[in-house]
Amino acid sequence: AGKKVVIVGGGIGGTTAAKYIRMADSSVEVTLVEPNADYHTCFMSNEVLAGERSIDSIRFTYDGLKGHGVNVVKDSVTAIDPAARTVTTAGGQTLSYDRCIVAPGISLLYDSVPGYSAEVAETVPHAWKAGPQTVTLRKQLEAMPDGGTVVIVAPPNPFRCPPGPYERASLIAHYLKNNKPKSKVLILDPKDKFSKQGLFTAGWKKFYGYGTDNSMIEWISGAAGGKVESFDAGSMTLQAAVESYKGDVINIIPAQRAGTIAQTAGLTDDSGWCPVNPKTFESTVHAGIHVVGDASIASPLPKSGYAANSEAKVCAAAVVDLLNGKEPGQPSYVNTCYSIVGKDHGISVAAVYRLGDDGKIASVEGAGGLTPGDASEEMLKREVTFAHSWFNNITHDTFG
Ligand code: FAD
Repeated sequence: AGKKVVIVGGGIGGTTAAKYIRMADSSVEVTLVEPNADYHTCFMSNEVLAGERSIDSIRFTYDGLKGHGVNVVKDSVTAIDPAARTVTTAGGQTLSYDRCIVAPGISLLYDSVPGYSAEVAETVPHAWKAGPQTVTLRKQLEAMPDGGTVVIVAPPNPFRCPPGPYERASLIAHYLKNNKPKSKVLILDPKDKFSKQGLFTAGWKKFYGYGTDNSMIEWISGAAGGKVESFDAGSMTLQAAVESYKGDVINIIPAQRAGTIAQTAGLTDDSGWCPVNPKTFESTVHAGIHVVGDASIASPLPKSGYAANSEAKVCAAAVVDLLNGKEPGQPSYVNTCYSIVGKDHGISVAAVYRLGDDGKIASVEGAGGLTPGDASEEMLKREVTFAHSWFNNITHDTFG
C-alpha cells in the first residue's frame, strides 16, 4: 500500500498531525492544504484585546512544518471523494491519498442571531477565529469613550473554547478598569451556567465589583432573559428575550458547527459535528478519512486547542500504524484550559482521559481538576505564569 496522507486545515489539529506523522515515519508523504500563509492562535487572543500583547505575538508560520518535510499547499479544499480517495482544491488541484485527516475547525452559524451575518461581522466582529477581527475589536475598544458598554453575546453549547467568552469578558474588564473605569461589560448568554463559573465569578468579585450595583461585569443568563433574538447593526441594538440592549462595542459569538468542508464532505451527523472512532479519529461515516480538533465529536474532551493537539497526536500514531499494517494502540488524551481573570490571577481546569474498554473516552479519576476555590495569591499568580508557559510550549510543539 502507498503511504500518502493529505491533511485539510493548518490549524492546531492539522499542523500537529502533519508534524507528528513525519516524526513517527519519515517515509510517509504528508501534504497539508491551508488557504492562509500564516496562523493566528485564538489562545492568548483575549490578551491582544486587552492590549497586553501584540497581534504578532500570536502569529505563526508553516516554516517549521516545511522543515519536517511536510508539503504545504496554500489552497482551500472544496471536495473530498472517499471512494476515489482524492481531495480537490479551489485552485484546481487533485491530490490523492491513502489516508486523509480533516481538521477545519468551526463554521459560524450567523443565522443563530438574526440580523448578524458574515458581512456585518466585518464591523461587528465575532473574533472567534483570531486574526483581522481580533485587531478590529481591539481598535473598537480603544476608540470607545469612557462610560461605554461592551456587549458580548455568548454562544449556545457546544462551542469552541467553553471558558473563552468569560475570559474575554474578564480581560476586557481588566483593560477598561485601567483605562476607562466608568465603562461596563455585559454578557448576554443563552445558557444558565458556564465553564469554571465559580472561579470566574470569584475573580470578578475580587477585581470588578461583580454582584454590586457598580459591577464592571454583568452576566445575564438564559433564564434571566439573556438569549438574544435579533440584532440591528444600524442602531447597535440587541433584542433579547425580555429587554433590548444597546452597545458601544458589540462582540457577537454565534452558534457553531464543524468547518464547512466537513459538512460538504458528508462527515457530519445531525448535530453538525463529525462522529469518529476515538481510538483512531477515523470517521464513522467515511472510511479512510480521520477528523480531529473542534470539528470532531470527542466529548468529554472539550473543543480546545490543547485537546486538538492531543487528538492529533493520537490520530497521527494511529494513521502511521494503519499505513504500516499494524493495529493502533490504546490511547490516552490530555487537556488543560487556562483563563486569565485579572492581574496576577489565573485559573485552570485540567484532565487526563483514557479510552475505556467500552470504546468511549473517559476522564481518569484523580488526574487533573480545577484551581482550588481557596487558592493563595501566589498560586493564582503562578497560574498566569503556567498559562504563558503553556502557550510557548504548545505553539512550539505545533508549529516548531
Ligand atoms: P483551527 O485551529 O481553527 O484550524 C482550522 C484550520 O483549517 C484553519 O487554519 C482554517 O484556515 C483551515 N481550513 C478551514 N477550512 C479549510 C478548507 N476547506 N481547506 C483548507 N483549510 C481549511 N484552546 C486552548 O486549548 N486553550 C486556550 O486558552 C484557548 N483559548 C481560546 C480563546 C479564544 C478567544 C478562542 C476563540 C479559542 C480558544 N481556544 C483555546 C480554542 C482553540 O483555539 C481551538 O479549539 C483550536 O484552534 C482548534 O483547532 P482546530 O485545528 O480544530 O481548528
